[in-house]
Amino acid sequence: MNFELAEDTRNLQDAARSFAQAELPALAGEVEETGEPVSADWLHRYGEMGFLGVNALEEHGGLGLPLLDALVVLEEFAKISVGVAFPVFECLTGPVRIVEALGQPALADRIVPATVTGDKLVAISMSEPDAGTALTDLRTSARIKSSSIVLNGTKRWCSGAGHSQGYVVFCRFDDKAGAAGVGAVYVDKDTQGVSFGPPEQLMGFRGVPSADINLDNVTVPEENLIVGPGGFPNLMGLFNIERLGNATMSLGVAQGAADQVTAYVQERIQFGRPLAEFQAVQLKLADIKMKTDAARLLIHRAATDLRDGLPDAQNAAVAKCFINQAVREVCADAMQLMGGYGYAKEYGMEQRLRDAYGWGIAGGAIDIQKVNIASGVLGRRFSQRKG
Ligand SMILES: Cc1cc2nc3c(=O)[nH]c(=O)nc-3n(C[C@H](O)[C@H](O)[C@H](O)COP(=O)(O)OP(=O)(O)OC[C@H]3O[C@@H](n4cnc5c(N)ncnc54)[C@H](O)[C@@H]3O)c2cc1C
Repeated sequence: MNFELAEDTRNLQDAARSFAQAELPALAGEVEETGEPVSADWLHRYGEMGFLGVNALEEHGGLGLPLLDALVVLEEFAKISVGVAFPVFECLTGPVRIVEALGQPALADRIVPATVTGDKLVAISMSEPDAGTALTDLRTSARIKSSSIVLNGTKRWCSGAGHSQGYVVFCRFDDKAGAAGVGAVYVDKDTQGVSFGPPEQLMGFRGVPSADINLDNVTVPEENLIVGPGGFPNLMGLFNIERLGNATMSLGVAQGAADQVTAYVQERIQFGRPLAEFQAVQLKLADIKMKTDAARLLIHRAATDLRDGLPDAQNAAVAKCFINQAVREVCADAMQLMGGYGYAKEYGMEQRLRDAYGWGIAGGAIDIQKVNIASGVLGRRFSQRKG
């Protein structure tokens, strides 16, 4: 077991860190102030530097590197802000991975290269008004009619809705009940019958537009079928990559807070001494260090201990759950250590705390992850359904 990153991975990390630290703080400030997502020009810059295709296949224009390399890059972006890191999260660990791994070659060839260059963003649309944690209750219907698929329904909480050019939409085929009927279809934004609800006003995640998606007799070619009924386990297998992306976004937010507060407590003088000289402050810094280090180890374990090329569900759940909780605690401690400056918008720590909270809801809430972890420990599954 080697806890050191390989030299090539460290070089990639250095490149991402230098770019992020030098170029992104000003952009992050703009995104936070205006609520506008990262612009197309910036996306192209991310793409030119290779950051949107770290783990995409080389035949799709990517670097073809392992998941761990992608997560190492993502952490550097997330240390700056969720808003500037979100496109990287979507491209490296989100729905693009589903399209590349499960989509038909014609679809993957059309979509993935355009995401690597920053020409296209793809969002994931799973949740519905009555299907959140109970995802397999989703009702959006898909009917296969000769060489096309017709979709009807309402999706909710889609990050990127209205902004992304494409959507991986989870849907129910031919009224088959439960998980057995669930599959996924790729939908282009400008397809007739696609419309978006008003933008949601969230606690954090500025620059990540969220809205309902209404699908009204939306007809797409058969080529857009990603997986049909029976494909839900494959979708969830791929979703473990997104869970590690979620965990890494949480870790980046926590590490960004850790770095900021560590500098602050050495500069801020009270009682004639830097805050860092008070033992109570040191104890909080130690807590922050223990949590960020432990989270990184759990994430890197899950990203390297792969089964058939995918993270193990249990490892991914443990990593996600741990840091989803820890990032809230780390940011709250960091905010407290900055006193009034921590609570003021100008210094950015309150933003980190607001952004921290979303990750433990998105991608499977903390408590359902714990239920899944306990199932693994006990070697039994517990139905969450009544009766
Ligand atoms: C910032 C953010 C971004 C998101 N982005 C997307 C996206 O891009 N695409 C998408 O499809 N969705 C997205 N979501 C939606 C997200 O996946 C859902 O919010 C999540 O699955 C929880 O569903 P819900 O909100 O309906 O909560 P509910 O399912 O109503 O659950 C509410 C709470 O009840 C508890 N709970 C529910 N069931 C159980 C159980 N069986 N055991 C224990 N506790 C339970 C949990 O504490 C849970 O937090 C996003 C959400 C957020 C906050």
